Amino acid sequence: MLHISRPRTVTSIVELRDVVRDWRRAGDLVAIVPTMGGLHEGHLSLVRNARRRAKRVIASIFVNPTQFGEGEDFENYPRDEVRDAELLASAGCDLIYAPSVSEMYPDGFATSVSVTEITGPLCGSHRPGHFDGVTTVVCKLLNQSQPDYAVFGEKDWQQLVSIRQMVRDLDMPIRIASSPTVREADGLAMSSRNRYLSVKERKIAGKLNRALFASADHIAHGIDLDRVLEACTKALLTAGFSEIDYIEARDSATLAIVNRLEHGKEARIFAAARLGKTRLIDNVPIERTGMAG
Ligand code: AMP
Repeated sequence: MLHISRPRTVTSIVELRDVVRDWRRAGDLVAIVPTMGGLHEGHLSLVRNARRRAKRVIASIFVNPTQFGEGEDFENYPRDEVRDAELLASAGCDLIYAPSVSEMYPDGFATSVSVTEITGPLCGSHRPGHFDGVTTVVCKLLNQSQPDYAVFGEKDWQQLVSIRQMVRDLDMPIRIASSPTVREADGLAMSSRNRYLSVKERKIAGKLNRALFASADHIAHGIDLDRVLEACTKALLTAGFSEIDYIEARDSATLAIVNRLEHGKEARIFAAARLGKTRLIDNVPIERTGMAG
């Protein structure tokens, strides 16, 4: 039987840097996959992506308090270090970096990294402060580990675009890679938060991605974009979603609102919808194949 040992876990910046220094001395490339734990196949696909690029892969596990708003699920966010370590071992992770909140934000911490414009719409307008929390902690994780690569999921598209912008603007010598959204059998985007769903809600949750893919297809075939998105919103509310935060078509690169498709530009539909206490997000490309003109 193949025995895969659990990767070593370090909790301090000093230990992390010692390990990375040894790898660098050996001439190895290093990649990091930042996570908040509660791992699933989506996270593991990022680890495998990282492995293809670098000999050494770090996964960070840090439930970052500053990216949660008041009344959000920071306290209850799934935490399972033993299971996470086993999953990471199976995906080929070499090192887990799991700092405490005080290691990340010692007394007197006073800096915030804020990416403007692209963090304004979509989740930015429904979760004030969220993206500043994300870009600040990712900036710190990248400075702490100094990797060649960092890998993020396309499921959190606005986060991915914000991090690319930050790395570009701050001249960070790190390549940002991304992996497609990993989905359950019914298409629901995997998420650590899916475990909050009741059995009934879980059935309804699968309709979000189907509605988005169908809408993208209708738009690609030339049906009026506003009409399609309005019908999509209505269908999801009828299906049992309690609230739709947004369903919008935006440019994939700039996140500017899209009213009609333009050649040479890629657009996606972005959505956030609530099912009881759980907030689900997803995004799908509007594929231009089959479009008239
Ligand atoms: P999280 O632990 O939710 O903060 O996510 C850590 C990383 O995993 C982020 O880059 C996410 O975009 C990515 N991720 C989360 N869910 C998925 C998924 N279903 N497919 C691909 N990547 C994902």
